[in-house]
Amino acid sequence: MTVGVLAIQGDYAAHQRALSALGRESVRVKTPAHLEGVDALILPGGESTTMLKLLENEALFEPLAAACRSGMPVLGTCAGAILLAKHVSNPEQSSLGVLDISVERNAYGRQLDSFVTTLSSDGSFDGVEAVFIRAPVIRSTGPDVEIVLEHEGDPVLVRCGPVWAATFHPEMTSDTRILSAVLTA
Ligand code: GLN
Repeated sequence: MTVGVLAIQGDYAAHQRALSALGRESVRVKTPAHLEGVDALILPGGESTTMLKLLENEALFEPLAAACRSGMPVLGTCAGAILLAKHVSNPEQSSLGVLDISVERNAYGRQLDSFVTTLSSDGSFDGVEAVFIRAPVIRSTGPDVEIVLEHEGDPVLVRCGPVWAATFHPEMTSDTRILSAVLTA
């Protein structure tokens, strides 16, 4: 399996390190041609507005949206989750619209700009350490979207079939449970 990591901006190198820790091969996706031969996709954290501009400059917006809809495993983290969302606020901006969630950007406010917390759940991700950096909040989820992890009542890890979104950064810890689940689902 070759995992494509969107590498136009943001923390794609951290995702590549996490993938190699799991023994997975990865390639950097910067142009539509780089999507060929990719079996899974990761959309990293960074600055979603900048990513949107670069996606359009590289004519990568539509091919990336199509790849995300093709049924392969997809993980978007933080800005990557914003790109996947159907609706984005604060302010409104366009997105790939692949996952039926509404997100509000930078929703924790200045005092909580960045924080680390341990998430508890009944499921297999209990005790995951979650790093939030200028994170969005998922304000609503569609009927087919499963809420996998929550933090203080807000969904922070969701999935719809093979497409997963985290508002935090699993690639910044050595815990590979989430990444493994995405790639083996
Ligand atoms: N605040 C960024 C945005 O709105 C996301 C931050 C991140 O990816 N860590 O795009």
